[in-house]
Amino acid sequence: MKSAEIRQAFLSFFEKQGHTIVPTSSLVPGNDPTLLFTNAGMVPFKDVFLGRDPRPYVRATSAQRCVRAGGKHNDLDNVGYTARHHTFFEMLGNFSFGDYFKRDAIRFAWTFLTETLGLPKEKLWVTVHISDDEAERIWKDDIGIDPERFSKLDEDNFWQMGDTGPCGPSSEIFFDHGPEVWGGPPGSPEEDGDRYIEIWNLVFMQFDRDAAGTLNPLPKPSIDTGMGLERVAAVMQGVHSNYEIDLFQNLLKAAAEATGHGDTTTPSLRVIADHIRSCAFLITDGVLPSNEGRGYVLRRIIRRAIRHGHKLGASEPFFHKLVTALDAEMGDAYPELREASEQITRVLLKEEEQFARTLDHGMGLLNAALEELQGDVLPGETVFKLYDTYGFPFDLTADVCREREVTLDEAGFQRELEAQRERARAASQFGADYSAAIDLEGETQFTGYEHLADQATVTAIVDS
Ligand code: ATP
Ligand code: MG
Ligand code: MG
Ligand code: MG
Repeated sequence: MKSAEIRQAFLSFFEKQGHTIVPTSSLVPGNDPTLLFTNAGMVPFKDVFLGRDPRPYVRATSAQRCVRAGGKHNDLDNVGYTARHHTFFEMLGNFSFGDYFKRDAIRFAWTFLTETLGLPKEKLWVTVHISDDEAERIWKDDIGIDPERFSKLDEDNFWQMGDTGPCGPSSEIFFDHGPEVWGGPPGSPEEDGDRYIEIWNLVFMQFDRDAAGTLNPLPKPSIDTGMGLERVAAVMQGVHSNYEIDLFQNLLKAAAEATGHGDTTTPSLRVIADHIRSCAFLITDGVLPSNEGRGYVLRRIIRRAIRHGHKLGASEPFFHKLVTALDAEMGDAYPELREASEQITRVLLKEEEQFARTLDHGMGLLNAALEELQGDVLPGETVFKLYDTYGFPFDLTADVCREREVTLDEAGFQRELEAQRERARAASQFGADYSAAIDLEGETQFTGYEHLADQATVTAIVDS
């Protein structure tokens, strides 16, 4: 089954069960300044769960575009290195707003997987929250799941959109890709491997977490589910990695051509094929590269893609060239992407030209520092100098260190950074902390210095 067919089969299945098909929304959440990007299918329905946005239906289904590259759900560092994580992906979901609850949600999911898609039951593994005896009974007594393939876990089975908002215990369904792939079942010490891949999460929405952390009961218990289209496509197409599915083939080929690097299993090429999707869709939804907030995250993703192209030997701007292949692949399902494609190309090219100069210079300096290195720890001062004086982004230094198996002295870097911030604060007549500008989800840890790093990058570009 092709990705487009799976998307359609899902929506039709739930439409037959009385769900209204709701079109995908923007990646920029219209109703929620606390959230960086739409990171799950439930985001456009947040206020419906909270009882603040009455709709003419109590059951809905959608194929929602999602980005997870910042905030609570941040998969940026996984991309290219696991078989299953993207920055941009499509989440298929069914929702009940105070209508059906656990029993039907579980039954619908099981029927869709085992009957509509015809997946073998022995390959499906299930988890529920440690406290959820009700869901356990449904899985064991009604569905008849083999207790060997069932377990109860803690944090992994409590889902939340962000630090605040609707949340609740969940039940996750995993597909076993077989013993050729390394990894253990959910809850085992090897669960981080890629053998047992989570395909669907059923969330039993019961609470609204407020800013103080308190769980307040929702007006009515509801259902929110999310299934990754690319992961299910991998299962249905008999391949292990998401990057081997139909949707990615042409993108990878285009990336190979544009960078002049032929091996489509190379992590860098996969990173590029992944990143063109998030970047193009973010621009489609009105985000532009900038030095703060959403625009800054976009800039970071673009620069990460460029860096990987650079690593593969691309010496000319290449990233913008992938828009044509993306349009061919996804423009039918997303006419708004097709319409924006010229603008996307322009924005990306400009960003590529600007970044190329900074990157060349910083790479040379980093390589020199690594060659001279005594031992296997890159000192925090070096990392800081690279980013502060030469505008070389921290995450790129981290990436290069990971590839060279060199540890980066992050604590030392943080110290330098803090010291510099203190100096900046003392010097500023306003005493403003600019890192707050991208603190959209209450997580200051990383975003702060990346923002500052970028300020430095821009300064370096201007200065060079
Ligand atoms: P994982 O544990 O594999 O990181 P998750 O538990 O974070 O996944 P959920 O928040 O439950 O994922 O999202 C619902 C579904 O969306 C997942 O079951 C998966 O199929 C899909 N999904 C989640 N994150 C990604 C991603 N980064 N790329 C592709 N699909 C994803
Ligand atoms: Mg995750
Ligand atoms: Mg999970
Ligand atoms: Mg999950």
